[in-house]
Amino acid sequence: MNETNALQALAGALTSGSIVTVDLTHTLDPDFPVIVLPPEFGQCARFRVEEVSRYDERGPAWYWRNFTCSEHTGTHFDAPIHWISGKDLPDAAVDSIPADAFVRPVCVIDCSQESADDEDFLLTPEFIVAWEQTHGVIPEGSWVLMRTDWSKRSGAEYLNMRDDGAHTPGPTGDAVKLLVEERKIIGFGTETVGTDAGQATHLSPPYPAHYLLHGAGKYGLQCLANLDELPPTGAILVCPPLKIKNGSGSPLRVLALVDRSAA
Ligand code: MN
Repeated sequence: MNETNALQALAGALTSGSIVTVDLTHTLDPDFPVIVLPPEFGQCARFRVEEVSRYDERGPAWYWRNFTCSEHTGTHFDAPIHWISGKDLPDAAVDSIPADAFVRPVCVIDCSQESADDEDFLLTPEFIVAWEQTHGVIPEGSWVLMRTDWSKRSGAEYLNMRDDGAHTPGPTGDAVKLLVEERKIIGFGTETVGTDAGQATHLSPPYPAHYLLHGAGKYGLQCLANLDELPPTGAILVCPPLKIKNGSGSPLRVLALVDRSAA
């Protein structure tokens, strides 16, 4: 099948509905939680919106608003320059990342039961290899998403903050090393507020997903939703961030194309 035919087949499948589009995005809303850092650090801003006009004296025929937020508010993309380990890499800001990174195959590792049993569940290399024994080796250049069903939580339950910080699942350093160095993934995504576990300051290295992914020029996605609607393999992720000059990240709409006719 040549490339034209592949796109024609895709177009037909999209039109017929055998390939469906799944929205993996939370609504940008002032109430959606953002990461909270220790008080000595600068803080991530929530989504805010102000009305400019709504068919009134400020603009009789039109409705529009101004909004502000952090580059890391809501469902969002992390670029390599987000972390110090990636600060000197080329093409490492959201406006300079090659666009092919934003349309890729995606693997979904289901950790939902383990995360329900243990809010500090850590994804290990052993867990990934066991997943591969069922679903095949993670293809080079894929996105890998860690399904925890954390997106079904809301409010304080979502950040799950305690006196000693947040308690949410994430990967170990060795798991990220396996994904980056051996499987050569393009990025890693989670349903939680960060790609790292809530207690990842205590891992080696601290915040291994941020440190190792971005140091290797890889990307992150967080605050994803609806990962329970995706198959373990075979879907295509579509995740272009806003083209913010020298941006460290960006809120974005994340979609997945899923073949419902596949077994
Ligand atoms: Mn982020």
